[in-house]
Amino acid sequence: MIAEEIKRLHAELPEGVELVAVSKFHPTEAIEEAYNAGQRIFGESRVQELASKVETLPADIKWHFIGHLQTNKVKKLMSLHPAMIESIDSVRLLEAVDAAAQTEGVTARVLMQVHVAREETKFGFYPEELLEFFQNRAFESLRATHICGVMGMASNTDDTERVRADFRAIRNVFSEIRDDESLGLRGFDILSMGMSGDWPLAVEEGSNLVRIGSAIFGQRVY
Ligand SMILES: *Cc1c(COP(=O)(O)O)cnc(C)c1O
Repeated sequence: MIAEEIKRLHAELPEGVELVAVSKFHPTEAIEEAYNAGQRIFGESRVQELASKVETLPADIKWHFIGHLQTNKVKKLMSLHPAMIESIDSVRLLEAVDAAAQTEGVTARVLMQVHVAREETKFGFYPEELLEFFQNRAFESLRATHICGVMGMASNTDDTERVRADFRAIRNVFSEIRDDESLGLRGFDILSMGMSGDWPLAVEEGSNLVRIGSAIFGQRVY
């Protein structure tokens, strides 16, 4: 089942769109099955759970942290050398990540989380806030962090026009930052949008990184 879904998604996703298999709340056996089907990028949302999975699973897995991150968990997370933290939702968190990356002697690769959806999540920068963050050149004080792009979620609704509008709003703030040559950003090119229920729309709207959990692994048991 899991292997089939992985293969199907790899076949369906257009070239240039990468898949994060969101394995949070699923056991290591499920991850191994996806791994054996060729999947290498996995998404987790809790530091402790990630720590125990990192310990037992193959070292060439690229772990993306996608959940809300508390600053007191940042050191622990950085010690696990995640490939990407997709859920930077405040300047305070970004600074904590940067400090921990320096201590750890690594470069943190991160995405800035944009908040556009109604109610679904209270986390993330509003588009205007994120633009302001970049226009103020607040990123220049970072020592050990590479901001690679943005991550966002659409409203959890069957109204596809609403979902599309949310993805468009995320893409617009991403493009505005990426295309602003005065910022001098390099390698700001990841637009992470789309989950099990809405990834085709997200890809239509320009996503190049989709985060898919339940469509691969089934329902999560919390
Ligand atoms: C859990 C989660 C996903 C995966 O959601 P599914 O609907 O199971 O595909 C994607 N992105 C984030 C940020 C998540 O927390």
